[in-house]
Amino acid sequence: MKVKKSVIFRRSSQVFFLLLFLYILWTTTYPLKGAFNADMFFKTDPNIMLAVALSERTIVAGLVLAFIIPVLTLIFGRFFCGWVCPFGTVIDAAGSLRRKKKALSDGVNARIRNIKYVLLAVSIAAAVLGHQYAWVLDPIAMMGRFISINLIPAVTGVVEKTFIFTMRDLGFRPEWLYSFYRALKGSFLGVETYVFANSAPILAMFALIMAFAAWVPRSWCRAICPLGAIYALLARYALLARTVERCTQCGMCSRDCRMGAIKDDLDYVKGECILCMDCVYTCAPGRIRFRFLPARGQGGHKTLVRQGGKGAISRADFILLMIGSILASGLKWAFKVPRKLIRPPGSQDEKAFVDKCVRCANCMKICPTKVLQPAFLESGPGGLWTPHLVNEIGYCEYNCDLCGRVCPTGAIPRLGLEEKKRAKLGLARVDRAKCIAWSAGMECLVCEEHCPVSHKAIKIDNVIVNGVVLGRPVVDEDLCIGCGICQNKCPVRPQRAIVVDPQK
Ligand code: SF4
Repeated sequence: MKVKKSVIFRRSSQVFFLLLFLYILWTTTYPLKGAFNADMFFKTDPNIMLAVALSERTIVAGLVLAFIIPVLTLIFGRFFCGWVCPFGTVIDAAGSLRRKKKALSDGVNARIRNIKYVLLAVSIAAAVLGHQYAWVLDPIAMMGRFISINLIPAVTGVVEKTFIFTMRDLGFRPEWLYSFYRALKGSFLGVETYVFANSAPILAMFALIMAFAAWVPRSWCRAICPLGAIYALLARYALLARTVERCTQCGMCSRDCRMGAIKDDLDYVKGECILCMDCVYTCAPGRIRFRFLPARGQGGHKTLVRQGGKGAISRADFILLMIGSILASGLKWAFKVPRKLIRPPGSQDEKAFVDKCVRCANCMKICPTKVLQPAFLESGPGGLWTPHLVNEIGYCEYNCDLCGRVCPTGAIPRLGLEEKKRAKLGLARVDRAKCIAWSAGMECLVCEEHCPVSHKAIKIDNVIVNGVVLGRPVVDEDLCIGCGICQNKCPVRPQRAIVVDPQK
């Protein structure tokens, strides 16, 4: 009974943290009214925070938070993976979809388990060389990307279209339904986009990981997760450890362990244990316990705790590691990113921006006009899924500085609204061949009317045409901040007659 309680307690903890993560991301929307900091989960992730700090040789604001879970791991072991990680929770859910699980042999388990250390080492080597790739496989960043870029827009789209269909097409629009819809628009349906650019690969990657998890339980956590690798290394020295008493060698715990942490000879790889309690539940009551600082051999088990230090990385792994590190240094040139895109306000240096950005998607999700979209290969592979401004979709709202307030790593600096209003994103350029005022002598001035800068960055050049005064737009390069509202509002199609070029 007591055992079942601990399983229920763990599952409740997983559900709680998953819902908290969802709540935080869902409320990371204009005008940012959530009860928690939007970057909370990301700031406590040592994998991304330390990689950013190392690659940029800087102290990221709030870096100290990244040490909280590692310290707790030294006490309790890899509890984060089994009790907190929202990605791990979804992986567990995917694993429960299939009744018959694929069991891996000890040899295969040992081999795949080392892959994550190699990936972590490559990521650290790259960071030492000045490049941050931790975002690629980090579970918190991946989960954030999937929720913000795929899940929330899709759910919003479905709910919104259902309401519209019911009220407009079916003609069913009682007052209470309309009020309910208005209330949802101000909260739950706060995101005004149904599809982000380049979102399909993010969804595909997430789906692939879940498919593997349904096939082999926690396959991602066992083999790939670099954050799990950090916690596994620390958990070897945790004060809390599993003890076994009166073992009958039935092997059920080994068969049921979702992490493959219990070997065929019932040896226990401490760093792999995520405290899921499966073995405690499977075994007869009272035989398996978790204790602080148990005496070695307590309970008479043959090899109670295997730290996993000896032979954890073989010679072949070491060679792989070296090849990976050399490749990582090679990437320094292959991934060089020229500034070809318009970046969010305050992000001056392209390389620093790309290295600091962990692709969490907070900024894209909160942007009220949805001008921030994930890049694909427009600025090279190193710029994949970094936010950039697409002025055909939106524009940088003059009175908004939210992207800088939700960015966990300072890739978009917190400027404060007044400084942000002066931050240059690019420079507007009038294409006189397309502009109807310049090319056709027609009255327009939409760009000048929308320009939010005081004293107007779009000036009017008045000329007399056929005896009539005609205004033609001219950009004041000193005043223009490149917010893109002129490009967004320009009525000329398919290509706008005024475009913003990235800052040189
Ligand atoms: S720039 Fe945007 S996507 Fe990148 S880390 Fe900051 S908030 Fe996340």
